[in-house]
Amino acid sequence: MISRNRLEEQFAKLKEITAPGKGINRLAFTAEDREGRAYVKSLMVAAGLTVRQDAFGNLIGHYPGREDDLPAVMSGSHCDSVPQGGNYDGIVGILTAIEAVRSLHEQGKLPKHPLEIVAFQCEESSRFGAATLGSKAMRGMLSVDDLRRLKDKNGKILYEVLQENDLEPEKIHEAKYDRPLKAYYEVHIEQGKVLESKQKRIGIVTGIAAPTRLKVLLAGHADHSGATPMGLRQDAMCAASEIILAVERLATDYTETPVVGTVGVVNNIPNVMNVVPGNVQLGIDIRSISEKAKAQVTTAVEDQIMKICQKRKVQAKIETISQDKPAVMQKKVVDFLMEICEQQHVPYITMPSGAGHDAMHWTDYTATGMLFIPCKGGISHHPDEYAEMRDIVTAAKLLEKAIWLTANE
Ligand SMILES: [Zn+2]
Repeated sequence: MISRNRLEEQFAKLKEITAPGKGINRLAFTAEDREGRAYVKSLMVAAGLTVRQDAFGNLIGHYPGREDDLPAVMSGSHCDSVPQGGNYDGIVGILTAIEAVRSLHEQGKLPKHPLEIVAFQCEESSRFGAATLGSKAMRGMLSVDDLRRLKDKNGKILYEVLQENDLEPEKIHEAKYDRPLKAYYEVHIEQGKVLESKQKRIGIVTGIAAPTRLKVLLAGHADHSGATPMGLRQDAMCAASEIILAVERLATDYTETPVVGTVGVVNNIPNVMNVVPGNVQLGIDIRSISEKAKAQVTTAVEDQIMKICQKRKVQAKIETISQDKPAVMQKKVVDFLMEICEQQHVPYITMPSGAGHDAMHWTDYTATGMLFIPCKGGISHHPDEYAEMRDIVTAAKLLEKAIWLTANE
């Protein structure tokens, strides 16, 4: 049986493991992170798992199957947090997975396929500027060169950080998970307000959006704000303002698949009260789980930028900084999770994930499913992050069911 008391105790215990400052501070590879991971490891052992650690520090707990050579069913999430983060992001996917296995273990249930529960290392980009590094290591997407290139804001190289954590950067290739998998499941807080606003307890993720990021450099003319009549201006900020609203409109008007567009960066140069803005830089982030939708909106945004700038005699230079591929969940996995929710009478919806997750690296490797639970006010990466225990227990029960059924197929 899934134990609410046990889960409550575990979240309370993890709340104590943090650096001074508000909220949870288990930044990857710090003393608090090590302490948190040691605790997670002890929970894995108590659930009947045999734990190993790979070259990057991912913890993998193995629960034997009746036919232990068959592909495993994997579940997990990340153990690290952002600075001053919340007590649920990532860790809820680890604790629910461990609890699901512990429940099977207590009932003396051995599935046909083995189970592997993973506590991924360094999912958050807050320390090294790159996200989901633990999953990337397990998928063979992280090289020794990458480890030497990535630095934290104090200039500390990831390669050295691994050495200081008694890990083996030279053996990073050995972290690659090359055995076949039967499936991968991840529970995570939604980090948005959709479930709360629709009053649903579970979101079944249909895909994980990936961003296209554009840097736009607008060059008009910096003139005296008093001496330059309105008709003679080349105001880069006015062009930027029109562009910001165009991004909002183009993303909103695309209705075939949800697309979100955000201008999160505005740099105005010289940013002086009595000067017409001459140069403005914009950072635009466009996301969707549909590659086609994302490409169409991106093209439309680029067209609009050129039109707006032509009209205002402002020069525009557009650079594509990144263009990542969205991850799509297989329909059969979504259907399977819907069926389980219906059997258990859990109110659910299907929904895309706007944020990136470890799960996105497993969709091209195995049947991958993700369950979201609501978080209060959509707040995440913040000390006020909160998820209700009844939702955590529901997710653990659904996960136990999904793992058990999949591992006996
Ligand atoms: Zn997370």
